[in-house]
Amino acid sequence: MKKLTIILSLLLPALVLFSQQTNPVNLPFRMEELTSPQFVKAVELSGGVAVIPLGIIEKHGAHLPLGTDLFEAREAAFTAARKEYAVVFPPYFVGQIFEARHQPGTIAYSSELMWKMLEETCDELSRNGLKKIILVNGHGGNTSFLQFFCQAQLAGQKDYVVVLFQEGADPVNEKEIKSLKKATLDGHAGEEETSMMFFIRPDLVNQEAIKAESGADQGKLDQLRNGYTGIWWYAKFPNHYASDVAQPNKRLGELLISSWGNQIAGLIKYLKASNEIEHLQQEFEKRAQNPLKK
Ligand SMILES: [Zn+2]
Repeated sequence: MKKLTIILSLLLPALVLFSQQTNPVNLPFRMEELTSPQFVKAVELSGGVAVIPLGIIEKHGAHLPLGTDLFEAREAAFTAARKEYAVVFPPYFVGQIFEARHQPGTIAYSSELMWKMLEETCDELSRNGLKKIILVNGHGGNTSFLQFFCQAQLAGQKDYVVVLFQEGADPVNEKEIKSLKKATLDGHAGEEETSMMFFIRPDLVNQEAIKAESGADQGKLDQLRNGYTGIWWYAKFPNHYASDVAQPNKRLGELLISSWGNQIAGLIKYLKASNEIEHLQQEFEKRAQNPLKK
C-alpha cells in the first residue's frame, strides 16, 4: 500500500503535467460543446488550429451506416485533439458524391453549394480567430475537390491557411495492421472501414449483411485505355461496395483510427509551432499583386 502511494504520488504530478501541456483546464474540443466564453479560451489554447473532419452521406455496402465516413473522420480527429488540443468542427457532410446518386440515401449537393459551404465555413472559422484550418477527409470521392479547394486558396488574398491532411505510413503499427488484414480486395465499405466502424460503433455494423451484395470489381471499362471518365467508379463497383471482407476486426479498426489520429496530432503540433505557410502565402500574394515589381 505504501509502495503504491509512493508510486502514485510520483506519477500523478507527471500525469497532470502531461495533460496540462495540451489542455490544462480540460476544455471540450468539440466546437458544439463549448460555451461562447470557453470558445475564446479554446482559440487561444489551440493556437488558432481548427480541424474540419469531412464525411458524406452515402451508401456503405449493405452493412454500414450512411454516415460511415463522418464517424471515421470525426473519431480520428477526436483522437488527435485528445493528444494535441485543437477545435474540432461540428459534423460536416457536404461534399462530392455524384457517383452514388443511384443508391438510396445519398445526399449529393451541387458543386456550387459544396464549394460555397466549405469556403464560407473556413471564412467563418477565420473570422473567429481559427486561422489554421486542417481538413481531415473521410471520403475518397472528396479528394480531387479538396485538393482543388487548397489550390484555389492562391486565387486571392486570404488571412488564413488551409491544409489537407494526408496520411502516411505508420512505422509503429504498420506491421500489426498488415497481419490483421484478411480481405484480398479492400476499398469502399471494405475491411478497413467495416473494422473502424466496428471499433467506433459496433451497434451500427450489420454483420449479417456483409455478404448481401457483391463488392467485386465488374471491370466494365477495363478496355478503356488512357482516359478518365466520371463513370469509372460505377463501371467497377455499381453496388457502391468494393471488398470481399468476411468479418470486421475490432483491433484492426482501433489501430487504423489511432494511427490516423496520431498523424493528425502531428500536423496540429506542426501548425501550432510554425507560421511558415502564412509567411509564404503573404510573400506570394504580395508578388502576385504586382508581378513586375522587382
Ligand atoms: Zn467510406
